[in-house]
Amino acid sequence: MKIIQNPSPNFENRPPGVSVNLLLFHYTGMKSASEAIARLCNPNSKVSAHYLIDEGGNIFSLVEENKRAWHAGVASWNDDVDINNISVGVEIANPGHEFGYSRYPERQMVAVETLSIDIIKRHSIRAARVLAHSDVSPSRKCDPGELFDWERLAAAGIGIWPKMLPVSVDFEIGSIRRCQKQLKMIGYSLKVTGVLDECTRDTILAFQRHWLPNRLTGKFDVETVWRMESLLRALE
Ligand SMILES: [Zn+2]
Repeated sequence: MKIIQNPSPNFENRPPGVSVNLLLFHYTGMKSASEAIARLCNPNSKVSAHYLIDEGGNIFSLVEENKRAWHAGVASWNDDVDINNISVGVEIANPGHEFGYSRYPERQMVAVETLSIDIIKRHSIRAARVLAHSDVSPSRKCDPGELFDWERLAAAGIGIWPKMLPVSVDFEIGSIRRCQKQLKMIGYSLKVTGVLDECTRDTILAFQRHWLPNRLTGKFDVETVWRMESLLRALE
């Protein structure tokens, strides 16, 4: 694996005793990869990531993995509220929803696979801890988005993709409160209010972008809740 060194000044030490246990994927959401690299290396931007992968599959190292890069922002998963402390962040060049969201090219996905397998192995990151920026920050972020091929990555040993089983005829959705509890059990951070509030809708969308990308409804419909249950079973 060839890695191009392109150091960013935007990092600090990880807190003592803290080890990497989460891999977080992003898209750059900018018109070009070079523009994104410039921003991630600009001291005034105060953002960075450990790696960036451009459309051609070139891998750039911006921050050493043992340092804390600034990629997640306000984010949480399960009991962790400082995701930058515990994660490796990978930026994948894509214009994003703002500038013409498009499929991730094959060469880029091959590079994502190669790099991720290496990171996961070196840090013994569990499959359940391979996540999207939108998972840990559903109300602020939607990257890497519904075109990111999680199914393919899972087949390569990266992350979790439960089998897509048809909804059984006697399946019932349950109350909003119960569905919110299930999202929390998956790892999402949200309040169990019993109401389909904005935060809950954002969280449902984040779940769908990752695990049910053909159904971005933002609702607890039968397919979505069924899919949440299959994920929970896979996480057991
Ligand atoms: Zn992001």
